[in-house]
Amino acid sequence: MGSSSAPVRRYHHVINGADHPSGAGSIARHAPDTGELVAEFASGDADTVERAVTAARTAFDEGPWPRMTGADRAAVLRALAASMERDRDHLARLDAEESGKPIRQALANVDASVALTQHAAALALSAHGDSHTNLGSDFTGLVTREPIGVAALITPWNFPLLLLAQKLPYALAAGCTVVVKPSELTASSTVEVARLAHEAGLPTGVLNVVLGAGSVGQALAESDAVDMVSFTGSTATGGKVIEASRHGAKKLSLELGGKAASIVFDDAEFEDALDGVLFAGVFNNGECCVAGARLLVQDTIADRFLEQLVARMEKLRVGATTSPATDIGPLIHAEHLQKVQSYVDGALAQGAKPLTGGAPLTGPGFDDGHFYPPTVLDAVTETHTVFQEEIFGPVITVTRFQDANEAVRLANGVRYGLGNSVWTKNIDTALTVARALRSGTVWINTTIDGAPQLPSGGVKESGYGREMGQAGFEEFTELKTVQIRSGRRTPFFSLGERP
Ligand code: NAD
Repeated sequence: MGSSSAPVRRYHHVINGADHPSGAGSIARHAPDTGELVAEFASGDADTVERAVTAARTAFDEGPWPRMTGADRAAVLRALAASMERDRDHLARLDAEESGKPIRQALANVDASVALTQHAAALALSAHGDSHTNLGSDFTGLVTREPIGVAALITPWNFPLLLLAQKLPYALAAGCTVVVKPSELTASSTVEVARLAHEAGLPTGVLNVVLGAGSVGQALAESDAVDMVSFTGSTATGGKVIEASRHGAKKLSLELGGKAASIVFDDAEFEDALDGVLFAGVFNNGECCVAGARLLVQDTIADRFLEQLVARMEKLRVGATTSPATDIGPLIHAEHLQKVQSYVDGALAQGAKPLTGGAPLTGPGFDDGHFYPPTVLDAVTETHTVFQEEIFGPVITVTRFQDANEAVRLANGVRYGLGNSVWTKNIDTALTVARALRSGTVWINTTIDGAPQLPSGGVKESGYGREMGQAGFEEFTELKTVQIRSGRRTPFFSLGERP
């Protein structure tokens, strides 16, 4: 299984283009499928954060990166994308071993990260502001788009490389300098990308990485030398980032938790809906912010749909992250496995009915890891805790509805608003429901799809700000209005008429 006999990786912080030793000991990472030690990460302290932020500040205030042409920045980003593509297998293996995601999904994450980096390069090339020449022949307005400055990028463990790629290339394309704080559980691919970026020609000090636990992220959010924090993580931690960043009124972009619904109407293409509900529910072990954790199914087809969903769930292969045959890998760590189990136990106590799964997997191949089977809980109502809170495991809850109004009310009846999917062949139903859903993304007859051109983000307690697309690029910029009088200015005070 997994990572046997590979040497333990050791990673330092990256500050001013060089490895920087640990400030406060190190953090050991054990593979979630085998329990083997796979990596040791440096652990930063206040001094490390200060050094990294100073490096980024100096690179922004005095260095070439914000001042060079968009074409030159684009060239560096394209070179970075090419080297990520070259190191595809290596990067995927790091993410799979540390996060527990199946290797096939880790490989797809690298491909998507390459595409995002290429897209950001194209935006660097084409970025421009606005001019206003209809204000009179002697008055011109320029609205320039400028890099926001030093951006702190804080990422979670569930998509280490992909979520970095939703932020970093866009920040760099805009001309920002950055300090990245990856999750302490999955930091390897971030340090590798920093190395590749320097090989690709990124000037030193533009991209710095500080490793460590939440206190490092907190110190970044508090730092006066940081202009913006782009954070992806839980809603609870997002609240701490809001508090920490108050001083100095930094700009924030927050990608927080979610509780997506897959809404299946009785006129849906049955096979497509089954496939989509299955994928959305258990993709990435269910440890996904837009996981279709809630199935809302029209009561007229519910029994038939569930019977076939369960049959498919039971065919999924749970196993080692590095096996190409694996559909579902281990959960991130033992405490998380317990948390998922306590959500399931709580649901059963509140009246939910288990259709499959429901207890950790044990036996050969499972005993050294944190394996949880695909699980379906029927008869879940909107008052149940599992309907309202993120479980973050391969668990789908089922709630039946009668009509579109009830489906929308149920889907919107949570504090999150990240993504939802609608499955119907009726265009009126699809559009009416899509427009009524309160979420940053709605998928119609597909789910967890995307493209670099399409922005992603949340409403309600799923956060604010957008990643990817033109909007994702613009998050890392601010507008400057330059007003130019080319004719004589009419005096405001007529002082000449006074004695
Ligand atoms: P988390 O909030 O525990 O940690 C995220 C990052 O924040 C980590 O790097 C962590 O070290 C850091 N951190 C912890 N405390 C901090 C503090 N006080 N100040 C600043 N930084 C701090 O989240 P997680 O468990 O790593 O990830 C899972 C969560 O992320 C889920 O809630 C999931 O929905 C969410 N998520 C959201 C998106 C999205 O796009 N909206 C994408 C992926 C994950």
